Amino acid sequence: MKCPYCGHPDTRVVDSRPSDEGAAIRRRRECPSCGRRFTTYERTQLEPLMVLKRDGRKEPFNPDKLLRGLLLACEKRPVDREVLKRFAYTFEDQVPGPEISSEEIGLKAMAFLKELDHVAYIRFASVYREFDSVERFIEEIRRLSELPPVDKKEGA
Ligand SMILES: [Zn+2]
Repeated sequence: MKCPYCGHPDTRVVDSRPSDEGAAIRRRRECPSCGRRFTTYERTQLEPLMVLKRDGRKEPFNPDKLLRGLLLACEKRPVDREVLKRFAYTFEDQVPGPEISSEEIGLKAMAFLKELDHVAYIRFASVYREFDSVERFIEEIRRLSELPPVDKKEGA
C-alpha cells in the first residue's frame, strides 16, 4: 500500500482488527520512509463507501470529485495542492461506516478549508450552501471575521 503522505510504494501494517461489525478490516499502517501513520479499511468490493445524495440516490464515493471541488475553491490561493490531495485521498479513512451523505462530505470539507484558508472556505461554502441571499452570504463572512486569523494560529 502506497504512503498517502510521501508516495513511498510500500508501508508496514502495525495493527489489524475487524471493523464495522466484521464488514471491514481496519489496518493501521506505518511508512518506513517518512514514519507517518495512516489507516486503511479493507472491504469487499460489493461494499464501497456509498454517498447518499440529496435527491435520495446513492453513488460510490469518488475522491477525484471531492478534490475538484477543493481545487476550485482554492484557485489562486496560497494553499498547498498536496494538502488538498491528501485530504481527498485519505477521506475514506475518516469515515468508518459504509455510507455517508453528500451533506456530511460537504461539512467535513468546509471544516477542513476553514482551517486552511478563509477565502477558499467562503468560495466552497457559497457553492455548497447555495446562499439564497446576499444577506446570508454577508452573515457567513461576518461570522468568519470573528474568528482569529489563520496565520496567528501557530504555536496554539
Ligand atoms: Zn511516507
